[in-house]
Amino acid sequence: MRRDNQRENNRPSRFNDRFSGPREMHKAVCAECNAECEVPFKPREGKPVYCRDCYRNKRPAF
Ligand SMILES: [Zn+2]
Repeated sequence: MRRDNQRENNRPSRFNDRFSGPREMHKAVCAECNAECEVPFKPREGKPVYCRDCYRNKRPAF
């Protein structure tokens, strides 16, 4: 029964809210298809940025 007690005392939802909140998006151009896209991180110069589709294609498909 101890575990049930701990469950009620879980972390404040504030942590979750922050995590799922609106992310800052940065405009970028896909290095693969030159499509304009937005990425949740700041694109670095010299580092290729891929749009969603191309990023997906880059990942090994299993
Ligand atoms: Zn692309």
